[in-house]
Amino acid sequence: MEDTIFTKIIRREIPAHIVYEDEGTIAFLDAKPATPGHTLVVPKKQVRNIFDVDDETLAAVMRTVRKIAPAVRDAVGAHGAHINSNHEAAAGQIVFHLHFHIIPRHDRSEFSFWPQSDYPPGDAAAIALKIRQALG
Ligand code: 5GP
Repeated sequence: MEDTIFTKIIRREIPAHIVYEDEGTIAFLDAKPATPGHTLVVPKKQVRNIFDVDDETLAAVMRTVRKIAPAVRDAVGAHGAHINSNHEAAAGQIVFHLHFHIIPRHDRSEFSFWPQSDYPPGDAAAIALKIRQALG
């Protein structure tokens, strides 16, 4: 896997506002925050996204997300947070090194993250069946 901008942050080759680091993970402020305090949690191991990450690396990242989220919330006086992650370009991933966004939220009316719709009759059951089949 090629280096990304996050590799450079991990290696301290470019600056970032790092808020936490341990053996396997690092957390720093997003340069273009959705809301103030927007933090990225990143494994030091280079993995592209959810489609190639191993269980151990993902577990380490999620432990850090759980540790950091209340601190991010409290630091900016927020009342909640999105824990969001984009996987592949089709889903909006622009940095191809696994990361989770912690986005503090003060009020639900600030903005809406994704649209919602309804299933035509029968579609939900058919899609659920296909997912179960894909799981084998
Ligand atoms: P993605 O769309 O891949 O989930 O999000 C990547 C995030 O990385 C974006 O929110 C973007 O603002 C952030 N980002 C991109 N380049 C840099 C950088 O050089 N420094 C920091 N701190 N964040 C970055």
